Amino acid sequence: MTFPTRTQNSSATPVDGDRPQVRPAAEGWEQQRTAEGRPLLQFASPRVKQPPQHLADLSLAERAEKLKELGLQPFRAKQLSTHYFQHWTTDPERMSDLPKSGREELVEAMFPPLLTEVRRLRTDDGNTIKFLWRLFDGALVESVLMRYPGRITLCVSSQAGCGMNCPFCATGQAGLTRNMSTAEIVDQVVAANRVIAAGELGGTAHAKEMGTERVTNIVFMGMGEPLANYKRVMAAVHRFVDPAPEGLGMSARNITISTVGLVPAIRKLADEDVPVTFALSLHAPDDELRDELIPVNNRWKVDEAIDAAYDYFRRTGRRVSIEYALIKDMNDHPWRASLLAKKLNQRGRGWVHVNPIPLNPTPGSIWTASEPEVQDEFVGVLRAAGIPTTLRDTRGKEIDGACGQLAAAE
Ligand code: SF4
Repeated sequence: MTFPTRTQNSSATPVDGDRPQVRPAAEGWEQQRTAEGRPLLQFASPRVKQPPQHLADLSLAERAEKLKELGLQPFRAKQLSTHYFQHWTTDPERMSDLPKSGREELVEAMFPPLLTEVRRLRTDDGNTIKFLWRLFDGALVESVLMRYPGRITLCVSSQAGCGMNCPFCATGQAGLTRNMSTAEIVDQVVAANRVIAAGELGGTAHAKEMGTERVTNIVFMGMGEPLANYKRVMAAVHRFVDPAPEGLGMSARNITISTVGLVPAIRKLADEDVPVTFALSLHAPDDELRDELIPVNNRWKVDEAIDAAYDYFRRTGRRVSIEYALIKDMNDHPWRASLLAKKLNQRGRGWVHVNPIPLNPTPGSIWTASEPEVQDEFVGVLRAAGIPTTLRDTRGKEIDGACGQLAAAE
């Protein structure tokens, strides 16, 4: 195990008063490194067997085409899509509009099972459910379902494992197993809708919403770096926003894609005609710290990532979120809040919103919560500089720590 070291005051690492500087280090596991000693980054998915094709992998036109190949009328595509995207069912018994003969075979061909529930953990009086899913090849992924006043959010995974190798993250420890397919991503949402419809998510729905409730918001903040699985993630986003029954008919602004800063992919995202909410997980405004905290920073630096985020705002008109986990004595110094504010204000005003994320206290770990007064000071510096800032809710974090821990423990 590597223990945190404290650097002395130096011009390269300014320190506030006697506030120490804790440096990032993996605890209890070794980060994979390149021959040059840098943390290994994996952008390409290993060539492994892919999951079977599912209706949600295909656009409506492709579904009709596939049905034609199976010797069926193309209009059946709409019926099957309605069952899946509007009734959240793949049960042939409930598809009475399809001819009885051959129905089971058709369902088998279009809806191969993709997610098997391994475990479910509840917290917040049942208002939060964390699911652990096994994929067809045994890979494990998670999603977290959260009820808030007026909305239901699902945090989805986009890759099995992750190739970004962040030293604080359980998901990255084993590297990237593989990209998830479009349908594996979409099926997390459909499965969550089934759970909600069965009344298994706690909290009290409004009488008029009973039975009609569903996931209203999706955040790509589960396992994996979504922009490293760009094509499949974007196809999944289309399934989310395409009008029912082609897709789930959700609003693009209620879908958040979060990245550690894959700059070319951020620029590509800005060119898409789908104005999703974009979040940059920055966690440090200076390259010296961020190179260690978020290894992809060795490829694209803080200023390049912020420039790409700013361009996303300019192209889409959608205000960008900056995610910033506050880690005690590592990145929570007031000078970092000032530097962050300066870098954001240099690009313009009104284009960005900062979400500092308080961690849970983890005694004995370097990855622990900032003191409340330090959090308040950090937020205060940003607000005083005119940056809209909201301390984020950390719902679900008490279940098992950070994302990916459930799968890592299996
Ligand atoms: S924090 Fe996100 S990007 Fe980094 S290793 Fe974990 S899942 Fe990947």
